[in-house]
Amino acid sequence: MKFETRAVHAGLSVDENTGAIAPPIHLSTTFGRDEASQPIGRHTYIRESNPNQERLEQAVAELEGGEAGLAFASGMAAGAAVFEALEPGTHMVIPDDVYYGFGVAAQEFCNKWGITFDAVPMEDLDQLSAAIRPETGLIWVETPSNPLLKVVDIRRITALARQADATTIVDNTFATPVLLRPLDLGVDFVVHSMTKYLAGHGDIMGGALICKEEHRQLVTVLTRTLGPNLGPFEAYLTMRGIKTLPLRVERQCQNARRVAAWLSDHPRVERVYFPGDPEHPDIETSRRLFPKDLFGGMVSFEIKDAGRDEVFAFMDALKMIVPATTLGDVHSLVLYPAISTHRDLAPKHRARIGIRDNLVRVSVGIEAVEDIEADLDQALKQ
Ligand SMILES: *Cc1c(COP(=O)(O)O)cnc(C)c1O
Repeated sequence: MKFETRAVHAGLSVDENTGAIAPPIHLSTTFGRDEASQPIGRHTYIRESNPNQERLEQAVAELEGGEAGLAFASGMAAGAAVFEALEPGTHMVIPDDVYYGFGVAAQEFCNKWGITFDAVPMEDLDQLSAAIRPETGLIWVETPSNPLLKVVDIRRITALARQADATTIVDNTFATPVLLRPLDLGVDFVVHSMTKYLAGHGDIMGGALICKEEHRQLVTVLTRTLGPNLGPFEAYLTMRGIKTLPLRVERQCQNARRVAAWLSDHPRVERVYFPGDPEHPDIETSRRLFPKDLFGGMVSFEIKDAGRDEVFAFMDALKMIVPATTLGDVHSLVLYPAISTHRDLAPKHRARIGIRDNLVRVSVGIEAVEDIEADLDQALKQ
C-alpha cells in the first residue's frame, strides 16, 4: 500500500462491541483481570500501555517503516529517552544548531550523567569525522535544520557512524515521513515532535520514537517505568491528524515553494532560506533525499536593512499569519528566532551559526497561497 493509504488506514478497525469505526477513547487507567488474576486483554495499567497509545504507536511505526514505535508526552520526552538510555562514558556528536531543547538538555544533564558531547556543523562531514572518537556512541542528526533549513546527507553520516560503531538518530520533525524515512537509509532511531506536523492542528503535545525491533526493549523498559507516556486523548487526536498528514504536508510544501520563490523576488527581502531553492547550498542533497518537488513547509528569510524594530513592525503588521512559537500547523505561523528559540544563545554563537537579527521563519500553512503572499507583502511594505 502507498503511504497516503497507510496514513488513512493505520489503526483503523471496526470496534467489536459497538461497530464504531472511529476508535473509542479509553480513559481507563486500569484494566481488569480474570479469576486467575491474568489480564483480560493486552493491557494492565495505563502507564505501561493503553489502547489509544498502542494504536498510535503502530501507526507511526508503520509510517516510518520501523518495527517499534513509542509515543511520548512530548518530542523532548522522546529525545530525552535516548539520552537516558546511554551508558555513562559515552560520547555523542550533536548538530551545533540542534533544536534548542536538546541543546539545553545536553548542556545541563550530560555532565551529571557522565556523557560528553561535541556540537558540530553536521553539513561539514570533515568536522563530523574529526569529532568522532572511539567512545562515540551516538550521532544526532536534525534535518532540515532550524531555522536555516540546512539539509544533510544522511547516507554519508550513517556510513561514518557504522565505521565508528555509533548509533544514529534523526529528528524527523521538519521533514516528516512524507519527505524522508530515515530508517530506510540505515538510521537506528527516528524522533518526532508530534506536536508539529504529525498532529498538525496546534492542539496537542506529543512525541514519538521509532526504531528497529532490537532497540525496543531498552527504550520500552525505560519509558514504561519512568512514565513520560502520551495520554489517551492526545493519542486519539494525533491519530486523527495523521490521517491527513500526506495531504497537509504536500499542500504546505507546494505553498512553501511558491512563497520562497516569490520572496526571492521581493524588493524588501535580502535572502531566502529554502531547501528547494536552486541556489541553496544543499539543493543536490535535498533532491536526492526528498520526493520530487517536496522540500518541506518551512521558509526562512532576511528582511533587507532590518534591525529588531523593523522586524517587530513587520510581525505586528501581519493580519492573517500568526506570530507564534510552534510550526507545522494548518495555519501559517511566523517566528523571530533571535528573540525566541535562539534568544538564550550568546550573540556571538548566534552569529556563528548564521542567525542574524533580520531573520524570520515562516511555517507555511494550507491556506490559499495568494492570501499568504498578500499578507506577507502588505506587512513587508510597512
Ligand atoms: C518542537 C521540536 C522538538 C520538541 O518537541 P516538543 O513536542 O515541543 O517537546 C524537537 N525537535 C524539533 C525539530 C522541534 O521542532
